[in-house]
Amino acid sequence: MNTEPLTSLKGIGEKTEKLFAKVGVHNLQQLLHYYPRDYDSYESPVPLRECKIDEKNAVIGRVHHSPSVKANQKNSVILLELYEQPLRLQLIWFHMPFLRSMLKKGSVFVFRGKVQERNGRLVMEQPEIFTPAAYEALQSTMQPIYGLTKGLTSKMVAKAVAQVQENCAPARDYLPEEIRSEQNLCDINYALTQIHFPKDRDSLLTARRRLAFEEFFLFLLALRQLKEHTEDTVNAFPIQAVWKTEEVIENLPYQLTGAQMRVWNEIESDMKGHTRMSRLIQGDVGSGKTILAFLAMILSAQNGYQSAMMVPTEVLAHQHYEALCRLLEENHLSEYQPMLLTGSTKASEKKKIYEQLSNGNCRMIIGTHALIQEKVQYHRLALVITDEQHRFGVRQRTALASKGDPPNVLVMSATPIPRTLAIILYGDLDISVIDELPKNRLPVKNCVVDVSYRPKTYRFIEKQASLGRQIYVICPMVEESEGLDAENVTDYTRKLKEELSPGISVAMLHGQMKPAMKKEIMERFASGEIQVLVSTTVIEVGVNVPNATVMMIENAERFGLAQLHQLRGRVGRGTEQSYCIFIQGNKDKEVAKRLEILKNSNDGFLIASEDLKLRGSGDLLGTRQSGEMEFAIADIYRDADLLKSASEAVSKLLFMDPELEKEEHYELKRVFADYLNLENFEIGL
Ligand code: ADP
Ligand code: MG
Repeated sequence: MNTEPLTSLKGIGEKTEKLFAKVGVHNLQQLLHYYPRDYDSYESPVPLRECKIDEKNAVIGRVHHSPSVKANQKNSVILLELYEQPLRLQLIWFHMPFLRSMLKKGSVFVFRGKVQERNGRLVMEQPEIFTPAAYEALQSTMQPIYGLTKGLTSKMVAKAVAQVQENCAPARDYLPEEIRSEQNLCDINYALTQIHFPKDRDSLLTARRRLAFEEFFLFLLALRQLKEHTEDTVNAFPIQAVWKTEEVIENLPYQLTGAQMRVWNEIESDMKGHTRMSRLIQGDVGSGKTILAFLAMILSAQNGYQSAMMVPTEVLAHQHYEALCRLLEENHLSEYQPMLLTGSTKASEKKKIYEQLSNGNCRMIIGTHALIQEKVQYHRLALVITDEQHRFGVRQRTALASKGDPPNVLVMSATPIPRTLAIILYGDLDISVIDELPKNRLPVKNCVVDVSYRPKTYRFIEKQASLGRQIYVICPMVEESEGLDAENVTDYTRKLKEELSPGISVAMLHGQMKPAMKKEIMERFASGEIQVLVSTTVIEVGVNVPNATVMMIENAERFGLAQLHQLRGRVGRGTEQSYCIFIQGNKDKEVAKRLEILKNSNDGFLIASEDLKLRGSGDLLGTRQSGEMEFAIADIYRDADLLKSASEAVSKLLFMDPELEKEEHYELKRVFADYLNLENFEIGL
């Protein structure tokens, strides 16, 4: 398909190309599949007396007096007051002196923006201005809002997408006609147009359904292929000696829970057995999955084999690596030479690691997807572990499992999914469940509050810090972004430093920071030097700092419940009482109800099913659970039915044409090959 660079579009030069690259869009094809994260629909215009405070309103009103202008060399401010006895609304524009001549006395406009109350007065800053007729025309449309980076606006993305759609020939639909009509799916060209520029809500839902199906379909096709290659193969690396792991278990500072012990026995007997292990370990956040992975690596090493553990973020790779080194040292096993390989490992260091891996000196390696790059050659790779599997795709799993003789495979995930879905999504794996938390844990105390509760929370944070504890504050965004009204890490960190007493050390962390910087911040937080960490969801997966007892989440309404549960899982990992404070940034009652579910339960499985019950399957456009698997638009919970249909469609297709050789599947075969090509795939963190 269309792999031409973005610079082939009018108006996009190298500078803009770089901005697009930051959000993972490198060519026209990727641009078309860069789906909006939300849509702006224009509210019905209201008179002043009906407007809602702290929300976006379109207020219709007449200009009674010419606006006043305050200007100096640097700044110009235009002020206009709308009245409707007894109410007044102050409209303010900065740096827009040209508006003055437009806002003529007597004319009527629609002013759109957030209405706020300040010192008893209602104000709206930088409102958009429309004539009533222009506004009415807009009301029937939905404008796309994209995930952005600084310098890139939704308008720029929309313009680029529109250009591609106008100028490129329509794509041939690769989903076979038969499947489309059976599943009642629209054509790909219609779907791609409507997902960006929906005519109305119904067309949007139609488009979304098709694209979600397509994601499941390709995923499941890849899964079948993986299953075929690996099913019932002989275990080429059988285990004989087991006494070292027994010793390590004895030496642990805690006793394994019953569930951990049971799952460990399953792993051990798999690894001793004749058939290769393919096992998924499902266990809620904090259930203690990591130690089982380490034990399996030690077991492998003791028997002369190599093992690799792949994790989705560098932060987590460092953390696991250090924990593994400590465990080995404590047990006098450093001879196994654990190593760490990530995207930011220096070239010279990488060369050394490749050598040690291929000559077999290094028996254990932990890393990010750098582990599956072609250059990496293993010696006797007997065991492959992926942690936080829900963050990887089936493709990474395939790539790592295809290095040398098929290794034993262990996959770990905290995503609570019902068994019927697990069988579809992890069709090639046996499933073990850790359904018990370590005994020393106190349940996290939760509260859901609005922004007015912030000052109180800050005092609480200070108190916890003074007791030697640590605190996470999560914001949904890295920096301020046009069109999205949510807290960002950059500004929040600055504000928080002013709010908290000066002795407290506050730092920030987000995915766009340089890897070395991220590592340094995480280490300083783990050592307790940083007390308050303001972060995006980069810490969502796997981060383990047991001394952290407070999790404060800003704009909780912007996250899916499963994701909020994972975030909360960062606290309550030690013996101290922990707290999670969800700040709801809007006043939506539905959102409040959903957050209530979290408040009342610390059980991931229950939360996921309650959430689904509450939303029903009608809410197709609300917050995604997010972070689940590799899907950009599909949601395994919400689209569970679609997932089942896709699974049936794949079975039927492969039954009729196992190698996709028929002419009508030519296009599908090509798209699928492209899909499997890891070069085209990046992990969005
Ligand atoms: P997750 O399942 O979320 O990956 P981790 O493996 O990171 O959880 O474990 C969370 C914390 O619990 C770690 O600090 C770990 O050392 C500790 N832990 C694991 N198992 C036990 C246990 N049986 N008893 C007490 N603490 C444990
Ligand atoms: Mg973990």
